[in-house]
Amino acid sequence: MTTKFGRLAAYPRVPLSILPTAIEPAPRLSAEFGLELFIKRDDLTGLAFGGNKTRQLEFYFGAAREEGADTIVITGAVQSNYVRVAAAAAARLGLEIHIQSEERVPDMDELYHQSGNILLNDILGAHRYSYPDGEDEAGADAAVRAIADKLRDEGKRPYIVPLAPGHPPLGALGYVLAAAEIVAQLQASDTKIDTVVIASGSGFTHAGLLFGLRAMGQEMAVQGICVRRNAEAQFQRIANHCRDISEMLGVGEVVADTDIKVFDGVLAPGYGQLNPATADAIVLAARCEGLFLDPPYTGKVMAGLMALAADQTIAPGSKVLFIHTGGTPALFAYGPQLQHWTRP
Ligand SMILES: *Cc1c(COP(=O)(O)O)cnc(C)c1O
Repeated sequence: MTTKFGRLAAYPRVPLSILPTAIEPAPRLSAEFGLELFIKRDDLTGLAFGGNKTRQLEFYFGAAREEGADTIVITGAVQSNYVRVAAAAAARLGLEIHIQSEERVPDMDELYHQSGNILLNDILGAHRYSYPDGEDEAGADAAVRAIADKLRDEGKRPYIVPLAPGHPPLGALGYVLAAAEIVAQLQASDTKIDTVVIASGSGFTHAGLLFGLRAMGQEMAVQGICVRRNAEAQFQRIANHCRDISEMLGVGEVVADTDIKVFDGVLAPGYGQLNPATADAIVLAARCEGLFLDPPYTGKVMAGLMALAADQTIAPGSKVLFIHTGGTPALFAYGPQLQHWTRP
């Protein structure tokens, strides 16, 4: 298996996830959508409420450990799941962590700034900073470097977890490995999936999984659902990540442009903002399957799947694998907005 992934085993990795995560059938949602739907439970990767970031951070913490870092510095949205899992991983490894919260979502209330992942970060003992702009990746990166410089002046050895373009997409390697896990599970259960549906934000999850599947010769469609940028910008980002992954692994460019599918029809009004289709998807998943989705990510992905099933972009009767990437703690930060849409 891993021979297909070139140099992947040479990248240091700290285990943070409970793997493999289950793939479950979702019979009542299947009936709703006219599909055969399965759910990959990456919301159950274990550490600190889990999610896709445990798989990604294994490689950043591996690099941090190799460098001898004693402090982690990371930036993300206020309700970032990435930051929360990083804070938990730092705690577990006995490292200090400094987090920068970017104001990516306009007009949010006090609850958004205090509950959900923010509450968890505080319990975990993370040092907090705020960055006023949510769309300035270069600025947020510079601010994070300034925090690291100050820590270095104090005698600490900081490691920055980078998210912006211009850094090798180390986190995507977690999803290259997840591709092998999924293929093994599908083979063991003799299931043939037509389409994988997945969130496309930083794009590490989407690009890593797509690259891993193609490197293994798997032809199933991988449909990204845009949660932060429009389809054109996201397409470019995924193409760049795939090129970077092929360089990092020393594997040929196994992903063709036609393999990169991104849908931005449920993104509006923007990152981290609820819309009616997303609220409906959250309610439907809960009431059909007892399954919690989150407003910024998996709720939008389910809304995207519903839209693509309705217009038959995803053919009726298809076997679909929905990657549940986690994010459920953010539900509590969106209480008033959700209750507005969802009260029975
Ligand atoms: C970060 C996140 C995503 C998006 O993953 P990327 O690798 O950034 O594209 C999806 N779902 C949840 C719950 C997340 O926290």
